[in-house]
Amino acid sequence: MRVYILSRNASLYSTSRLVEAGKQRGWEIRVIDYLKCSIEIMKNELKINYRGEELPTPDAIIPRIGASRTFYGTAMVRHFEMMDVFTVTGSLAIKRSRDKLRSLQILSKQGVDMPKTVFASNKSSAKDVIELSGGAPLVLKILEGTQGVGVVLVDSEKAAKSVLDAFYGMDVNLLVQEYIEEAGGADIRAFVVNGEVVGAMKRQGAEGDFRSNLHQGGSATAYKLTRKEKSTALAAAKAMGLGVCGVDMIPSSRGPLVMEVNSSPGLEGIEKSTGIDIASKIMDYIEQNVTHPHEEEPKR
Ligand code: ADP
Repeated sequence: MRVYILSRNASLYSTSRLVEAGKQRGWEIRVIDYLKCSIEIMKNELKINYRGEELPTPDAIIPRIGASRTFYGTAMVRHFEMMDVFTVTGSLAIKRSRDKLRSLQILSKQGVDMPKTVFASNKSSAKDVIELSGGAPLVLKILEGTQGVGVVLVDSEKAAKSVLDAFYGMDVNLLVQEYIEEAGGADIRAFVVNGEVVGAMKRQGAEGDFRSNLHQGGSATAYKLTRKEKSTALAAAKAMGLGVCGVDMIPSSRGPLVMEVNSSPGLEGIEKSTGIDIASKIMDYIEQNVTHPHEEEPKR
């Protein structure tokens, strides 16, 4: 089996764990920095080059595309798809997951619950937007933000109006969301592989922070999902069409609410908190989907 991990950095925890899990099976595993790939497109011919040399066609790819490189990264994933290579996350699904607004529209359509969200242009009145969202406290999210950056809690109408005016004045695209106080700065990450939850953790925000992102100083512990949380996570993964993903939910009095579905979920937090070998679950998924893999490299 020949598998490429499309990642910019081989020393990242997630990338190195995937390499390890593949090598344990005797597979040919390579980390490919997708920014160093170039593609050739001609009639009936699709090729991909890496550092100036043609890349042998793999059996499968594991995209680990950075949020700031979505355009280029998904173009490379799409090229592999066109070459009939199996990918654990499809280019279209990655693209959709990177747009918070589009993701919420898709999730809503598939009956997945979320905090009520309002999106309006900077030509609308802040007062109307606040009213539509149900009034303060509110959470404002810059559409281009990730890892908790650009997520703001405003707790009074006055603050909401001035912050909205400021953002609209700068022509920033933002979502205005009902604040789920019951969540208490905690959220739940369910790791889904091939329509199954393979591990889950609860993340608690740093003292005094309503955001639970590990990148913002949050901490993670293993967590057993309720039935409803499990079905919500699976419904969200299915709606987004992602074979591998991390579904982030916050608990609320009306049940779990989905925040976002991450198409390149990190392995470190989930493996260390649960002790589960998530990398191997991803390899199992590949094994189940590649029916005629390349011959193994002869051992020298
Ligand atoms: P990012 O994509 O930048 O991680 P999120 O939308 O996931 O942004 O928000 C970051 C964190 O902030 C969430 O994991 C959650 O803990 C908290 N949070 C986000 N939205 C809400 C909300 N509407 N109510 C309460 N907490 C929220």
